[in-house]
Amino acid sequence: MSWNTFATVAETKAALEAKQVSAVELAKHYLDRAAQLNPGLNAYITLNPEKTLSEALSTDNKRSKGEVAPLLGVPIAHKDIYLIDGWRTTCGSKMLENFVAPYTSTVVKYMADAGMVTLGKLNMDEFAMGSSNETSFFGPVKNPWDTSRVPGGSSGGSAAAVAAGLAPASTGTDTGGSIRQPAMFCNLTGLKPTYGICSRYGIIAFASSLDQAGPFAQTAEDCALLLNAMAGFDPRDATSLDRAKEDYTRDLAKPLKGLRIGLPKEFFGEGNEPGVLKAVEAALDVYRKLGATTVEITLPNVKYSVPAYYVVAPAEASSNLSRFDGARFGHRAKEYDDIVDMYKRSRAEGFGAEVKRRILIGTYVLSHGYYDAYYLQAGKLRRLIAEDFKKAYEVCDVVMGPTAPEPSFQFGAKADDPVKMYLNDIYTICANLTGQPAMSHPCGVDENGLHVGMQIIGNYLDEARMLNVAHQYQLATDWHKKHPNI
Ligand code: GLN
Repeated sequence: MSWNTFATVAETKAALEAKQVSAVELAKHYLDRAAQLNPGLNAYITLNPEKTLSEALSTDNKRSKGEVAPLLGVPIAHKDIYLIDGWRTTCGSKMLENFVAPYTSTVVKYMADAGMVTLGKLNMDEFAMGSSNETSFFGPVKNPWDTSRVPGGSSGGSAAAVAAGLAPASTGTDTGGSIRQPAMFCNLTGLKPTYGICSRYGIIAFASSLDQAGPFAQTAEDCALLLNAMAGFDPRDATSLDRAKEDYTRDLAKPLKGLRIGLPKEFFGEGNEPGVLKAVEAALDVYRKLGATTVEITLPNVKYSVPAYYVVAPAEASSNLSRFDGARFGHRAKEYDDIVDMYKRSRAEGFGAEVKRRILIGTYVLSHGYYDAYYLQAGKLRRLIAEDFKKAYEVCDVVMGPTAPEPSFQFGAKADDPVKMYLNDIYTICANLTGQPAMSHPCGVDENGLHVGMQIIGNYLDEARMLNVAHQYQLATDWHKKHPNI
């Protein structure tokens, strides 16, 4: 069987429904390709062909019995932060190197209910902390477009696997930009939904008030199909939104005439690489041709996003990661004197440098006498940023700008300078602090041929409209159809 490894989810679904291909054939195709290319790219941490093929076979059997499901037999790879019963789940850390999940996260379960077949578990920055995938205990993921460059992070494996045609789609999580920034670096479409749309149950927690699950795919249409499967109320997540299921594909075909795009002047300043701005400006011209109008807006408090995030995220992480103590969960040191020494050594050995840095910052900002000065202040800034957006939506429907100020960089370029690394998320973090949906779609290349992403930020629960906007752009352009030559 010859299969186009860059077929979209929509095309794959259609081919399965027309019985042009079986789920087993598809699973074999992607597993073979992973066997061939993963040693060079390091996108997957764990493959389990036996499990994958038996899942695929069971979806083929369902189809032959006349059963239907929206994505029956479509393969998907999951970031290694999602628990899947019986699968090793490492979160990119030595701490969980040998941890086998005892139950399945809700998002993966919902996707399996929709008929999707798990291809494997994808590499990521350790505990999702990073913007380049260099913090993974399992080694960095290579960007399939240029293996001397980073794929972005923390969901770097999720982006690299889809960009290289090792999976038709993948899941990621986004706490400060970890879906959108790697989507830009690897020329993909990625969506972080409104906080509360996808259940966090069974996803290893980084910063609970910011974490959101979302899809990576080649197109906005695929993201809509995937979100249809992923989203839904879950009583086991206290922050899950209890609302009716919706069809995120429903508005894809709507013309863009009358769409008002807000362009925050704070996103178009000197901090951007000129090639990034040029590609974004050209994409905005396409949007204008499609009937949209642009209006300059201001988000005066977004300049506080990075500092607010680097108080909130480490604070919550320091609390969430306290469970990895070598007793309840995680790596246990072989030698120790007493129980306190056991905790100390286990955590010292199990966590990498970036995770330790975050735990130290988080413990500090939450400590007595500092809580009011840092955590409380950061909470107030979140409210101010949300108010900026509320005002903006009086004059625009969506907000756009570059996803990141510069494209994919070389390995090592920022690894020794955490602040430089943190600034890569300057445009993405605000949507996590406020809980709004945000996505990135391919929109061109800079003068070095490196990929640029357009970020679309929308009002709460406006995913269907944002996906419509990106889909219309993709009907008019072909940046999203470009694939690396590997
Ligand atoms: N790069 C950011 C960080 O290191 C965001 C990571 C994420 O979204 N998971 O925290």
